[in-house]
Amino acid sequence: MTVYLATRRGNRSWDIVTSQQDNYLRSLRLKTIWPSNLALKAFCEQGSFDDTHALLCQCGIYSFKPDVRDIIPVTNDGTIFGSVVIWGKVIECEYGYRSEYAYPVSLAGFCCLVCKRFSYSDTQLAFSRNDINIDQYKVYKAICNTCASLATVKAQFRYIPLPANLLLKDLREFYNLR
Ligand SMILES: [Zn+2]
Ligand SMILES: [Zn+2]
Repeated sequence: MTVYLATRRGNRSWDIVTSQQDNYLRSLRLKTIWPSNLALKAFCEQGSFDDTHALLCQCGIYSFKPDVRDIIPVTNDGTIFGSVVIWGKVIECEYGYRSEYAYPVSLAGFCCLVCKRFSYSDTQLAFSRNDINIDQYKVYKAICNTCASLATVKAQFRYIPLPANLLLKDLREFYNLR
């Protein structure tokens, strides 16, 4: 593990969530809504993100190294993936980083909930039919067109009349991405 102060690029996935017509990127684990035009800062209830604390803790903003996408198991199904710029204190691990600050720089596409393949525009957005709404945000699930046409999948999800490429455009505008 290496700790350094640097700016790097990493890849990661987010849940896409919606609340009152607005769409946001949300961290998968801690359910943090990523702010627009503002750096996300690592937060930990156990301490601040300094050398001694962060090395022993699991906190920080997670991202994968850009070259490891092919070997990581795809567990982030139904999500959107893209890259982030990370800076401040950065802890380098084998496959990725934990950083003090991060902001999205690009959104690349979706990971299908059903077949786990990465897809781009040929994707449907859906809500699970038995989703229990635990907070003000509803989570979109990305399902590729091939899987979305299966009867078993149709029975489980309610598709949203919002093409995935329009959602991408909306998120890129909101986060000021290229
Ligand atoms: Zn911590
Ligand atoms: Zn699929």
